[in-house]
Amino acid sequence: SGKFFVGGNWKCNGTKDSITKLVSDLNSAKLETDVDVVVSPPFVYLDQVTASLTGRIEVSGQNSWIGKGGAFTGEISVEQLKDIGCKWVILGHSECRHIIGEDDQFIGKKAAYALNEGLGVIACIGELLEEREAGKTFDVCFQQLKAFADVVPSWDNIVIAYEPVWAIGTGKVATPQQAQEVHVAVRDWLKKNVSEEVASKTRIIYGGSVNGSNCAELAKQEDIDGFLVGGASLKGPEFATIVNSVT
Ligand code: 13P
Repeated sequence: SGKFFVGGNWKCNGTKDSITKLVSDLNSAKLETDVDVVVSPPFVYLDQVTASLTGRIEVSGQNSWIGKGGAFTGEISVEQLKDIGCKWVILGHSECRHIIGEDDQFIGKKAAYALNEGLGVIACIGELLEEREAGKTFDVCFQQLKAFADVVPSWDNIVIAYEPVWAIGTGKVATPQQAQEVHVAVRDWLKKNVSEEVASKTRIIYGGSVNGSNCAELAKQEDIDGFLVGGASLKGPEFATIVNSVT
């Protein structure tokens, strides 16, 4: 459902030199045309990346402030992201939830503000290992999803990223069946709680240890509409392989 979407979340990685090389590799990569491709560099390199990407790859912020800019030390506003050429922002990433301590309500506010200002939102959800083991995967994902659904003005500009926390940066990728099971449940939740149309149109992408070798099997799953890639997005050719795993 919807065009395949692949995002590269570079997290807090890179230098001017390594990012020059990565962008140059992306510029020379052959990418399937039927895929939306987005990269999300650290804030300080956004200008460098937007200025040096030559193709159709779009750029995303890794977070944004809940409202208009001002006296908020260390924060970056939605207006600033748009000013520098971003079309997207990643919100609710597990590292922001579990390491920094952002909660559902705070993340919901950010999403509503960004969407109202015309930025696309990559809305992340996902359970911890102990939550999965306790059989709470759906409950946790639905609660995080509801926090977005309660406040967003529309679903036109949202991509949902299911990223089980135990799979992020661990090399322990969800099996295609595990991912598909949650993606179907998320789609059903949208059908029941938002609308049939939103459920069928909204892209649900998978993140967590996706790489050039496991992407093809995952991409075959009916309800996996793309990927959010961390570590493997720091290597241009491997990221291109993941983009081109569209089926
Ligand atoms: P890894 O691909 O490094 O597991 O990270 C996934 C992720 O958190 C993308 O947002």
